[in-house]
Amino acid sequence: MTTIFSRIIKGELPCRKVFENERIIAFWDIAPQAPVHILIVSKKELKSLQEAKEKDQLLLGEMLLIATEIAHDLDIQEGYRLLTNIGSDAGQVIHHLHFHLLGGRVLGHIA
Ligand code: AMP
Repeated sequence: MTTIFSRIIKGELPCRKVFENERIIAFWDIAPQAPVHILIVSKKELKSLQEAKEKDQLLLGEMLLIATEIAHDLDIQEGYRLLTNIGSDAGQVIHHLHFHLLGGRVLGHIA
């Protein structure tokens, strides 16, 4: 499974990086839907959250906590949305596990 995100992780494609460690990378979305739109991406190649197993618990928890740290760093900690699309029916386009961190404006309700 090689996606655009795998290529970003390998450094083959550029990104506006805000965080990276051995397991996770986070960068600005190329087509932001809000003033703050960050993608928090696992380096492990899971297609989506639905593919995660018990052994991925720590990774998933770390992704969520990194989201809270980025929200704080970008000063949107009072209100933001964290979401992950699972599968094409939910609008997932890049089939590599990632969370969207959206904020910086009042967000509408999810349909
Ligand atoms: P999803 O629909 O949940 O799969 O989200 C994929 C997201 O990746 C979309 O919001 C795209 O705008 C974003 N995206 C696609 N290519 C890039 C890229 N090269 N750098 C940053 N974000 C990207």
